This record gives sequence, structure tokens and C-alpha cells, in this order.
Amino acid sequence: AKKVKGGASRVFTPGLKTATLDRLRLLEDIRNALYRREFTLLYQPQFSIGTRRLNGFEALARWMHPTRGSVPPDIFIPMLEEHGLIEEFGEWVLETACSEAMRWPDDLGVAINVSPLQVHAVRFSLKLCETLMRTGLRPGRLELEVTETVFLDGKQQTEAVLNNWKALGIRIALDDFGHGYSSLSYLGNFPIDKLKIDRGFLGQFDPSQPQAKAGVILDTIIDLGRKLGMTVTAEGVESAEQLEHLHRHGCTEAQGFLLGRPMSADEVRQIISARVTP
Ligand code: C2E
Ligand code: CA
Ligand code: CA
Ligand code: CA
Repeated sequence: AKKVKGGASRVFTPGLKTATLDRLRLLEDIRNALYRREFTLLYQPQFSIGTRRLNGFEALARWMHPTRGSVPPDIFIPMLEEHGLIEEFGEWVLETACSEAMRWPDDLGVAINVSPLQVHAVRFSLKLCETLMRTGLRPGRLELEVTETVFLDGKQQTEAVLNNWKALGIRIALDDFGHGYSSLSYLGNFPIDKLKIDRGFLGQFDPSQPQAKAGVILDTIIDLGRKLGMTVTAEGVESAEQLEHLHRHGCTEAQGFLLGRPMSADEVRQIISARVTP
């Protein structure tokens, strides 16, 4: 959304005015949502493509609004960021995901999404150590997903923070790779373990025309990540044809509706217990 300065001479259409009021109400609600325990985490499975092995889950936040129902994160995450609430929310995500993962077998990882604002907050890194110690989660099971925007400002500070996380034994994934301000330079300069190819690339890719531009870009990103020794994860895998192509081109890991939708903690536990006890 564009920010308009001044605005004294702006004429609001009734629709706009309603939208603004609506946002204000939503903002009021979100301030209380944490205390009212209206947020939940869903978990989406991630699989090795070659072995079909379950590697772990990405935690995805949901807001169950008492009257509106489920509000998607693309709406409420920016609101939390704008109003200084993202740190507290992010700590809740960390805490909840780590505690939940402690109920899973030790070979399953958990990935959480970290807002760029959290990367630059000292408090979050402290909270990381504390949460790992208190929950007892093996740091190698935790993966933090950051987006390319963290490299935009404060490059040195970002590097220091990511190196700190690495020193703790945590893995780092670069989310939505290729979506925003891509620069290949930081791939070599920062301690990144995993590239998550932005869902858009797979969406544009037509498996019946693998030589088309979208296919070339997809394959090139896979190659790049592999040659840099990173795990390469394709997001938004919806068809067997897509998965087959990814397999042929050496993509390491897949996540998407074809393999599993984001599910509740209870559903995850059921799946896991079915897997362990034959
Ligand atoms: P993301 O990290 O790129 O998450 C992947 C999104 O793709 C999720 O949307 C997921 O439900 C959706 N998805 C997964 N598989 C498929 C598929 O096969 N097809 C399609 N069309 N979509 C698929 P979701 O859950 O709505 O999350 C949207 C974004 O909100 C996330 O994008 C992430 O950037 C942000 N987000 C979610 N939870 C958190 C959180 O706890 N903290 C922060 N900071 N951001 C979060
Ligand atoms: Ca993510
Ligand atoms: Ca993503
Ligand atoms: Ca995203």
C-alpha cells in the first residue's frame, strides 16, 4: 500500500473510508489477540525429493478472529510490523514452535519465519538462546527463514547476527528466493544453508514446456543453490509433473499442497505416530 503524505485535500470515497475504519478496528483487535490466545500455528510438511523422507515442518501463523474467522498472515503480519508488535509475536512463534517440535522425533526439524525487523532486534537473538536452553530443542533442528530484505540495510549487522545464529547451531534458510531484491553477492557472503525458491517461479513454470524461460530460470536457481552447497527447496508444489521435473533437475526438497497442506499441531502428531508405530 502506498503512503500518501498530507492528505488534507484528499477526498475519501465511502468505500475508502469504510476500509480505513475497518483497518482501525482490526488494529484494535490485533493488540489484544496475543493475550486472548487467538493466534495459532499450522505446520506444513517438507520432504526430501529423492528419498521421499519427511524432514520436518514449516510453522505458519493463523489468526482466528472471534467474529471474522481466519485472517491470513499476509494481512496481519504487516500490521504487527507497522505497530511495533512483531517482536512479541515473533517470540510467541519461536516459543510455540520449539515446544511443539520437542514432542516430535529428534530427526524432524521445525522452520519458523522471521521478520526482517526481528533480525535486527538484539532481543530476538537473546530470546533464541533462552528458548533453546529452556525447551531443550537441539539447535540443529531449528531453522530460521529470512527474506532477502534483511540484506538491504545494515549489511554488517545482518552478517554478525546470522553468524551468531550459525554459531548456536541453528540453520538459516533464504525464503522467497528471487522474489524481491535479489543480489547474487550475498549468497557468497552470508551463512545460508538453504534456498527456498519463491513459489512464483514454480507457478509460472509449465511442465509440458520445460525449455520455456520460466523453466530455465527454475533450473538455474536449483543449479546455483546446489553448486553453493545449499539445500534447495521448492515451495508451492501442487502437481506430480512439477515434482517430477524438480526431481530430474536435482532439487533437494519440496513443500506444497501436493505433499501436504499446513495442518494443526494435533494432526501433525497423528501423522508422526502413524509413521513411527507401523
Ligand atoms: P511463506 O513463508 O512463503 O509461506 C508459504 C505460503 O505458501 C503459506 O501461505 C502456505 O500456506 C502457502 N502454500 C504452501 N503450499 C502451497 C501450494 O502448494 N500452493 C499455494 N498456492 N500456496 C501454498 P500463508 O500460510 O498464507 O503465509 C503467507 C506468508 O505469511 C508466509 O509466506 C510468510 O511470509 C508469512 N508468515 C506466515 N507465518 C508467519 C510467522 O509466524 N512470522 C512471520 N514473520 N511471517 C509469517
Ligand atoms: Ca517461509
Ligand atoms: Ca516462501
Ligand atoms: Ca513470503
